[in-house]
Amino acid sequence: MARILRGAPVAAAINETTAASLAALQANGVTPVLALVRVGENGADAAYARSAVRRCQALGAQARCLALPADITQTALEDALDALSRDDAVHGILLFQPLPKHLDAAAACAHLAPEKDVDGVTAASAAAVYTGRGPGFAPCTAEAALRLLDFYEIPLDGRHAVVVGRSAVIGRPAAMLLLQRSATVTVCHSHTRNLAELTRQADVILAAAGRPALLDAGCLRAGQIVVDVGVNVLEDGTLTGDVDFAAAEALADAVTPVPGGVGAVTTAVLLAHLAQAAGQAAR
Ligand code: NAP
Repeated sequence: MARILRGAPVAAAINETTAASLAALQANGVTPVLALVRVGENGADAAYARSAVRRCQALGAQARCLALPADITQTALEDALDALSRDDAVHGILLFQPLPKHLDAAAACAHLAPEKDVDGVTAASAAAVYTGRGPGFAPCTAEAALRLLDFYEIPLDGRHAVVVGRSAVIGRPAAMLLLQRSATVTVCHSHTRNLAELTRQADVILAAAGRPALLDAGCLRAGQIVVDVGVNVLEDGTLTGDVDFAAAEALADAVTPVPGGVGAVTTAVLLAHLAQAAGQAAR
């Protein structure tokens, strides 16, 4: 049976370090502030924002919530982001996405200061992930997957990592982070012809396709490490990943559960980025 790589202890270890950094900043008179920007009413975003506020407070940071109207103009949204980017009291900015259809998300993200881009959505952050240098941060979920592998001491150097998904928020940055760690990386997507053949060759699979149980027993082999980033809501409301968990549990060396795997680490990474951003601003 596979080892179950749970996210909670990973998040706890990250949060411990973050709390210590935030306490040191507070001792120097700096209160790190995360701005949470929502456009329109979305129940899931509002719930996430409330939980982020609680987590900020628990670790010694403050959250500032900005709820903008659903019919806001592109210019007004960009003005609001410019103001937060200029505000020295704000250290991190999280813009909830997707935005309403009339808004251009990429153009809006260009108004986030890269050094405050704690969710890694700006072009500067993408460049930082690509080059390993410069201001900006990796997208939290992609980094959370790597932090989880590190916590469980999964070696990556020279291993074959197969990433399923090439989105700008997960698949691509995860592939770059794996490459930085000297893994040999294959990136699969919806046009990949021989998905099962490729994933069976992997030492480490990182599944981020958003397709329930896309990776079944035929895609897996013994000895693999399976990181399931997918979060899919089934018709009955159950949450499930991109990997057939029972198959992975029977075959693989280790597998992350959904829920309770990578998702449990994402907010901890966001707050670690906030502490880092506030620390850099204080220097
Ligand atoms: P996305 O933007 O929809 O991207 C999905 C990617 O998967 C695309 O690159 C797509 O290929 C590829 N794909 C789709 N069907 C495929 C198939 N049958 N075979 C191979 N590749 C396929 O999704 P995302 O935003 O990256 O999110 C991916 C998953 O992660 C979702 O389930 C999401 O809910 C979850 N997620 C988890 C967390 C967390 O904290 N754990 C956070 C955010 C998101 P093409 O590029 O060719 O279309």
